Amino acid sequence: MAIEIHLPTALRAYAEKQEKVSIEGKTVGEVLRNLAGQYPALSKHLFSEEGNLRNFVNVYLNEEDIRGLSGKDTPVRSGDRLMIVPSIAGGTPPSGVAREASGAWEEVVLSQEEIQRYSRHLIMPEVGMQGQKRLKAARVLLVGAGGLGSPLGLYLAAAGVGRIGIVDFDTVEFSNLQRQVLHATQDVGRPKLESAQMRLQGVNPGVEIVPHELRLSSANALEVLKEYDVVADGTDNFPTRYLVNDACALLGKPNVYASIFRFEGQVSVFDARLGPCYRCLYPEPPPPGLVPSCAEGGVLGVLPGIVGALQALEVIKLLVGQGELLIGQLLLFDALKMEFKKLKLRKDPGCPLCGKNPTIRGLIDYEEFCGVASSPQHSVGGSVSVEEAGVPEISVQELKKRLDGGEDLVLVDVREPHEYEICKIQGSRLIPLGELPDRVHELNCAEEIVVHCRMGGRSAQAVQFLMQAGFRKVKNLKGGIDAWAREIDPSVPTY
Ligand SMILES: [Zn+2]
Repeated sequence: MAIEIHLPTALRAYAEKQEKVSIEGKTVGEVLRNLAGQYPALSKHLFSEEGNLRNFVNVYLNEEDIRGLSGKDTPVRSGDRLMIVPSIAGGTPPSGVAREASGAWEEVVLSQEEIQRYSRHLIMPEVGMQGQKRLKAARVLLVGAGGLGSPLGLYLAAAGVGRIGIVDFDTVEFSNLQRQVLHATQDVGRPKLESAQMRLQGVNPGVEIVPHELRLSSANALEVLKEYDVVADGTDNFPTRYLVNDACALLGKPNVYASIFRFEGQVSVFDARLGPCYRCLYPEPPPPGLVPSCAEGGVLGVLPGIVGALQALEVIKLLVGQGELLIGQLLLFDALKMEFKKLKLRKDPGCPLCGKNPTIRGLIDYEEFCGVASSPQHSVGGSVSVEEAGVPEISVQELKKRLDGGEDLVLVDVREPHEYEICKIQGSRLIPLGELPDRVHELNCAEEIVVHCRMGGRSAQAVQFLMQAGFRKVKNLKGGIDAWAREIDPSVPTY
């Protein structure tokens, strides 16, 4: 019998861009194996070399995690629906959390001006004076002042959260302005912390903004986080996401989590005392490069606005102690379909962090855990660069020299067609990464091939693929077309 499988955006490229496919099988495992059989390019994204389902891929059968059913042996029936939810970057009453989250609220006093400012909160019984005092007593840490951090900061400051800490060390770039509404055009080149602080104090001079100009690391995370009641994770890289998760679980603090990719968002509240943590959901990060970052995959500017506002909503509900939180639930938002889905999350009893026999008792090396080499590019709010070990590289200067010398090099661009329309290196041939397995015969392994993408991540994967396919004379263009534009040909636009 045929089962409908829903594929996430990130995996559709490997299945002829389809959103849903219909696959035969009697169990979840059989259906997934048949899926990989039909679309071989999907296989390495779903299964490890040993043939097990990868840890960063979660599978839901009719909205239930298959780990809570019988795993891959779970039988399927006609009409069932399988959903694959990779890492992209309930209903527990929150009152207990709120009580801890805003410890000293009873002594808090609201001035006449504050009573005026917050009057639309105060006239709702669900917030009232007590809720507003809890907000004023609260200390919330935003990790990142980027796309998610912008609506978070603006709404939390406007709502009267007494102390808002912000961790960031990036400067504002032109390409940030399409979504990072905390920052203005005249802020380009300035530290994000500076423009964020100025903007938020403008929104509400009555709240305290505490800038933390640092890169969050195992060495400083516990020290920084312990001063706060709630942490809101707005990062877009895996090392920082696991770091924030682990630090929150070790300190016993709620972590209001969100991530975005292109047109899709995920939101949850991880509180290891009451429910699962991020590791229960995704025990291991995807290998570097497999899941593109927003810098590589793009993101619709308004999406972090919506998803960050949902995050701010969860923070505020948590602080005032009202409603049901997304503890034990993962909210999925699909902007193109305008669809929200909620999936149940279970605490994993074998979780190395919050399970029955935890093995993680302190912070670890997250760059190593996520398989990325340490480099200044791994910034909070920045993108993770991908430097695959063992991938032969060529610099833009050397490529230029060799092209000028009239050498016969085949230049292959593995970006998407809409990126190729923005800019290209003269003479390059477009073969998008997802199409490479089917179009590899178009390339001649006797020729010398230089592969490039935007920054070098996707092309590193392409080089690895080609090497496995027997190509010996293939190199990755270090820094991609971005480096080419900056260092060789300034007439090529960067994006
Ligand atoms: Zn856990």
